[in-house]
Amino acid sequence: MNTIHELSYLKEQIEELKEQGVYRKLPVFDGPNAARIHLNGKEVINLSSNNYLGFANHPRLKQAAIDAVEKYGVGAGAVRTIVGNMDIHEELERVLAEFKREEAVMLFQSGFNCNAGTIQAITDRGDVIISDELNHASIIDGVRLSRADKKVYKHSDMEDLRRILEECKGKYNTQLIITDGVFSMDGDLAKLPEIVELAEEYGALTYVDDAHGSGVLGENGRGTVDHFGLHGRVDFIIGTLSKALGVIGGYVAGSKVMQEWLSHRGRPILFSTSLPPAAVGALIEGIELLSSTDEFTKKLWDNARFFKEEMKALGFDTGQSETPITPVIIGEEGETMAFSRALLEEGVFVSGIVFPTVPKGTGRLRCMITAEHSKEDLKEALEAFARVGRKMNLIP
Ligand SMILES: *Cc1c(COP(=O)(O)O)cnc(C)c1O
Repeated sequence: MNTIHELSYLKEQIEELKEQGVYRKLPVFDGPNAARIHLNGKEVINLSSNNYLGFANHPRLKQAAIDAVEKYGVGAGAVRTIVGNMDIHEELERVLAEFKREEAVMLFQSGFNCNAGTIQAITDRGDVIISDELNHASIIDGVRLSRADKKVYKHSDMEDLRRILEECKGKYNTQLIITDGVFSMDGDLAKLPEIVELAEEYGALTYVDDAHGSGVLGENGRGTVDHFGLHGRVDFIIGTLSKALGVIGGYVAGSKVMQEWLSHRGRPILFSTSLPPAAVGALIEGIELLSSTDEFTKKLWDNARFFKEEMKALGFDTGQSETPITPVIIGEEGETMAFSRALLEEGVFVSGIVFPTVPKGTGRLRCMITAEHSKEDLKEALEAFARVGRKMNLIP
């Protein structure tokens, strides 16, 4: 065989990962994503999922998915602009817009492809994108696909943002400020009121990726914009349907003009098949459920507060988190992964997050607290953290 097919250039890089102690196999679990999962043949407490409200396995969403399959089949059959636009896709957009208290919604197949498709569609040569340095990878990729100039401001640093806006003044057609609503690796909130003030002062547009804010913050989980009372002042509000809503999909909420334009120029809308009926049916039910009660978001926050306070009391560093995302900062990459492996031995599954997902030397165990965890689950997890933390001399 021709040796070129051995992909030795990739093999060498994989060896490097092993030397750095960051090589890993993808974890496999059987059964639904829940508070406790069956992972590699053993029951463990799951502190790793984005299934904030337990909707990924909620009976009402499951039944709605089954009903949608019965009525519409398993696939949409085409991209939306051809013949993949079912009435339920339009209904989902309508209920989402109402829930988000915005004029219109454009649906995408994932949060990732929503950013990849939207940013390039709404900016062009002669524009500038101003992005927080800790924005999500899908924003970074979306920005790369745009012809606009790119600037990055220091994380949540309003002085630095103002400096860049000042520098760009008068030089561009459109200025677009992009930020995560909730930063996914630290759990801190964007300084949205200040960002919006600055944007209005300098005539810039605002784009907020609220993947971790949707279903978590605001009234019944309406998101960061609702939390800060900024309706009508953020131009593009991105959400995911894959995290708190437990299914799959992404969307932009905002004005009708935004929706009209993206339906013509959003490349994932034009070139990728629309969401399958099961997902759409489940999502409509999920939004109805979320609109009807605050029971899920209340439980989520109650659990998150409890876990964070106990973690601090043990002496762990939980960083700047203001949300259910609770990072436990360990530092060095190899040590972070070793901590994660030791926790798994103790029956707690928390994935270690290291460079390049977070900056070098800030490796962490990112604990994701959900409404589905019982106090027992959380107490057991805390005890395991305490045992491993003491063994590794990270806490007293
Ligand atoms: C998870 C995440 C995404 C991607 O969403 P998916 O629906 O899983 O593709 C986009 N942006 C941010 C900030 C995220 O945290």
